[in-house]
Amino acid sequence: MAFYQKKPDIIIRNGTIVDGTGKLPYYADIAIIGDKIDYIGNLKGVSAPLEIDAHHKYVTPGFIDSHTHADRTIFKYPECQNAIRQGVTTQIMGNCGRTFLLREPAADGTYPEGSMAEVLDRLDEAGASMNSAWLCGHNTLRQMANCYTTEYTEEQFEIMASFLREAMEAGFIGFSTGLEFVPGVVSRPEEVERLAMIAGEYDANYSSHMRDEGYYVLEAVNEFLNVIRKTGLRGTVSHLNIKYDNGVPNEYLFKGMQMLKDAREIEHLNVYADMLPNCFAPGNAMAMLPAWLRAEGWDKAKEILADPVGREKVKNDLDRYWRFLAYGQWDRLLYVTTHYMPEINTVPFKELVERSGKEPADVFLDIMMAAPNLDLANKVNLQGVVFGEQILVDSVISDPIYMWQTDSDLYDETPGNGGRRHDFMSMSQFIIRYVRELGAISIQDAVKKVGMIPAQHFMLEGRGVLEVGKFADINVFDINALKINSTFSEPCKYSDGMDYVIVNGTPVIAKGEYTGAKAGRVLRHLPKK
Ligand SMILES: [Zn+2]
Ligand SMILES: [Zn+2]
Repeated sequence: MAFYQKKPDIIIRNGTIVDGTGKLPYYADIAIIGDKIDYIGNLKGVSAPLEIDAHHKYVTPGFIDSHTHADRTIFKYPECQNAIRQGVTTQIMGNCGRTFLLREPAADGTYPEGSMAEVLDRLDEAGASMNSAWLCGHNTLRQMANCYTTEYTEEQFEIMASFLREAMEAGFIGFSTGLEFVPGVVSRPEEVERLAMIAGEYDANYSSHMRDEGYYVLEAVNEFLNVIRKTGLRGTVSHLNIKYDNGVPNEYLFKGMQMLKDAREIEHLNVYADMLPNCFAPGNAMAMLPAWLRAEGWDKAKEILADPVGREKVKNDLDRYWRFLAYGQWDRLLYVTTHYMPEINTVPFKELVERSGKEPADVFLDIMMAAPNLDLANKVNLQGVVFGEQILVDSVISDPIYMWQTDSDLYDETPGNGGRRHDFMSMSQFIIRYVRELGAISIQDAVKKVGMIPAQHFMLEGRGVLEVGKFADINVFDINALKINSTFSEPCKYSDGMDYVIVNGTPVIAKGEYTGAKAGRVLRHLPKK
């Protein structure tokens, strides 16, 4: 006779519980009533309408992805299947200084209407299969204030401040910057600190895509820390890594990590970093080409590229965006994807170069030149090794300073919908590569990085750990069954291997299949009145 006398809605039996706190795994049953975990222990003799056999499987909290851009796509893809099928039950959104909700156009080009609180309410009403928590982006605030210069007027500042306040009052969890991007790139630290101060009034978070991930990365970390020192916000350095093989030594990454650790230990600042498991990333081909080339229209640009002198001039002026290409590191360019030459979309760039017998820069410019119009040229996508080598990522990713994130958007499996490889595989990759294949980190420490740590850091009350009384966001999976199906040539393929993904007590994945349940909620951090 079991001690437990209630009638649960769901029982998960015989699982290996990895509770999200970093504690050693243990065997137990879990009872769920409504949206909460009601009991963890021995449930022999108790039955439930839904019983899940988790024998030889891990039972973990639903994963919290600490950095995404899904605010762009959640209204279009409320099924959230690319994330849910990797066990992600909550995403932080609005990173890198951009928030769709704040009048940024969505993937379909439309802008949301109404106040920020209304848009969050509308998302709750429409429903999504995953929970979301929102950051308010600095670049978007600047756009709303029509501010594109370093100097700003007090009037412009008031516009930024009032939208930021509106966001915080609506339950946004913090403020984000993207200081490598327009228009935040020209802002001074003083402006960011002033705005962060406002977020500080709401006991919020600050996530920063820093001003530099190259030679000045340590100055950038210091700029980030100054914001935290002055405001007391909980801080996250976004994708702390070093970019471009342009002379920045690997030691700078280790130094940057140490600066954050010292800030935690000596100054007692609440700071973390987040990181992707991949050294590759997508990019836009046009961003490589000089602006003067396009200035006279695409037909004229093609003429310039066809002329040997003109082409040489272009080659000498590629030093922007993916600068490593300008430095001749063409082996780091993996794929070029075009709408007008579909036959090359599945071919590694290296192979295209070998086939043509030409210089890599010429192969690239030939592809660009073949674009029939500017619109199609603008849509040429690249995949490349953008960050430090994989071995560098592998060497630091298990460090306690890092939370794990995917930097992703939401998509379905429709080919050509804009979905990229990292959207479909990054969270699976963490568990597959670092826990299962390399054994670089224990399952309990891995789950803590997507469990208790982000839940506490982003103030997601009742999430991230498996304990009685907490929300039933739960994954059940056999680690050996996890599988990535996305490839560079066919990126829009869901990952496999999650048997059950439960969100707020409702299975969104059951027996490996998506159920269609829109069980997710907007997680608001409302100011205490
Ligand atoms: Zn970023
Ligand atoms: Zn990002």
